[in-house]
Amino acid sequence: GDSDSDSNVYTVGVDTTYPPFEFQEDGELVGIDIDLINAIAEDQGFEIQIESMDFSGIIPAMQAGELDIGMGGMSITEERKETVDFSDPYFESGLTLVTAAGNSEISGLEDLEGKTIAVKNGTTGAKFAADNEAEYGYEIVQVNDSTAMFQEVGNGSSDVLIEDYPVIAYAIEKSSLDLQIVGDKLNGDNYGISVLKGQNDELLQKINDGLASLKESGKYDEILSKYLGE
Ligand code: GLN
Repeated sequence: GDSDSDSNVYTVGVDTTYPPFEFQEDGELVGIDIDLINAIAEDQGFEIQIESMDFSGIIPAMQAGELDIGMGGMSITEERKETVDFSDPYFESGLTLVTAAGNSEISGLEDLEGKTIAVKNGTTGAKFAADNEAEYGYEIVQVNDSTAMFQEVGNGSSDVLIEDYPVIAYAIEKSSLDLQIVGDKLNGDNYGISVLKGQNDELLQKINDGLASLKESGKYDEILSKYLGE
């Protein structure tokens, strides 16, 4: 916000928990988003302060002047471009359906008639579910974070959930969740770092310059392989 422009400290909003992009490890906030924005800030000579919040609160907090930068595995979408400007893309992602492990009844959207689908508020997954609800005839359950979404399906309250495939693949591998990815990817998108639209050109330029410099130096690849392996 305006109050920070003099002090050169930018506040960065991230999702409460979204491994491998942001998560707690030994009481510390770590992840690809966290390392990237720290490295960009260091490269470009600014300070940051990171704040965790429900994903759906990030853009509203930017609009309220409480955040300067929005992250959280945030997909670049035309709809969001009406309120924020995005950096160059930094990670390829997209949506997939997820069921309980061993569920052989659901292999795609066409099997969801009368089923319940868990989504996270404010996400591209929630929008996808809402946009296709009438066509496929499922019922939507809204939650605020990925943990709650995974529990919904893990404990049988919901039949299926929608999550970004790099995130659910990582969660299944690392946390041995009893969940499985089903069917083909529903779409493809890219993550970007966001700032409030039309009033942060200088900051956005620094973010893009920093990102380019990390890609050139090998630091970007180093951060990705730290969390994802080679
Ligand atoms: N990439 C998705 C989106 O931008 C999900 C982000 C998230 O859940 N943190 O809506």
